[in-house]
Order: sequence, then structure tokens, then C-alpha cells
Amino acid sequence: MKGFIIFLVVMPVITWLILRRRKKGSYIIFPENYRALLNEHVSFYRQLNDAEKKRFENRVMDFLSYVRIHAVNTEIDDLDKLLVASSAIIPVFNFDWHYYNLRDVLIYAGTFNNEEFSVTSTERDTLGMVGTGPMQRMMILSKQALREGFANEISKHNTGIHEFVHLLDKADGATDGIPEELLNKQYTIPWIKYMSEEIEKIKQGASDINVYGASSEAEFFAVASEYFFGAPEQFKENHPELFSMMEKIFHKQPAHKA
Ligand SMILES: [Zn+2]
Repeated sequence: MKGFIIFLVVMPVITWLILRRRKKGSYIIFPENYRALLNEHVSFYRQLNDAEKKRFENRVMDFLSYVRIHAVNTEIDDLDKLLVASSAIIPVFNFDWHYYNLRDVLIYAGTFNNEEFSVTSTERDTLGMVGTGPMQRMMILSKQALREGFANEISKHNTGIHEFVHLLDKADGATDGIPEELLNKQYTIPWIKYMSEEIEKIKQGASDINVYGASSEAEFFAVASEYFFGAPEQFKENHPELFSMMEKIFHKQPAHKA
């Protein structure tokens, strides 16, 4: 009888706690080792203040809750998952974004042969790829390239960010270098103009943007974004107009020194 009374008293409390937890949804625990890994390997995260770091962590957990990451003929650990999530969150950190066009990320050890995926995309050295057709909502990344993208404090190359920028570009239905969902319509024409001018410079060997960017507007947008996020000061200095357009695309406030 005594046990039953305790049960009657305790049950509502437990139920209330469970419901409260569900309702608030802010009890997601960010594993302590994740924080250490981000601090060690992701310079973008390291440079954030405490409140921004918390926001980044929440975005990472949200991303990992709806995207599955699979290892193919290799092994992956927490760091690889965090680097995929960081590649996804860095470009969209300043605004709400859910990657509806992504469900699975496959991680290969090194480069992979894109022909075996029967996709039309011709990605550089197949270090990364966004699927089309039957591979819709799938991304493939080389583990080696993923890690190399985050190996240096300042870097113009980041395969993970490159592929996620393709997904942003693709969100309006066309992977064409014009992210219509992100760029206010009034800036579309200047953006196209700056892109084509810079592509011309790349072709003439007069630009420090990766030559792969000259293959199409979509690739230009992706490689310029790698540079924009990985070496912003250098990018701003060398490409002020492009930089200011990309600040608009990625809703970034002009940098201010603390
Ligand atoms: Zn690409």
C-alpha cells in the first residue's frame, strides 16, 4: 500500500518532468568531447564568442539529427561527423537554414570514382559530390579532403564547404551559381556581372581564385565561397566587390574588430 502511495505521488512528477523536457527542447546535451574537437580543429568555431559557440553547437546537433553520415570502406569518428556538420553550418550560420535537399552523407577514404555513382556531375578529382537523379539528397565526401579543408587556420580550400554551397545554390532548383533563396533580387545582375568578370580573369591567369572556378558559374560560386570563409581578409583585399556581394549572400555583417 505504501509503495502504491509513493507511486501515486511520484508518477505525476516524473510525467511532468518528461513533458517539460520535451516541450522546452533545449536540453540537448552537447558532448564535452565535441566541444574540444571543434576548438581544436575548426578555426571558424574557435573565433566565436561564447554565445555564438553555443549557437553553433545547437546548429551542429540539429544538423546531425536529420542527416545521416555513413562510412564507406573506411572508418569515421566523431571528428569526421563534426567536420561534415561544420561544413554545413559555417555558410548558413547567420540565418536559419534547413538542408531539405540532403539526407545522407557518404564518406570515402580518399578520392572515389564518380562513374560508379552514375551521376552527371563532374566534380573536381571527385573529392566531393552532390548527387542528382537517383542520388538526390545525397552527398559524397572524401574523408581525406574533408580533414584537409580544416587542417589550416587560413585556407582557400575546403571541400566540405564547397559541397554544401552547391546545396545552397541548388535549393532554388538550379545549380547555377545564383543562390536565389539567399540573394536579394536587386543584386542578381551585379552578382552575375562580377562572377563573369572574375571567371574571365581566372581564364587569363590573372586571379588567385582556384582555376576550377572557371569551369562554370556554379563552380565559381563554390570555390569563391571556400576562399571567402577560409581566408576572408585576403579575399576582401583582393576581391572587394565580390566580397561585399558574398556578405549579402551569406547575411554576414561587415567585420568589426572587438
Ligand atoms: Zn563543385
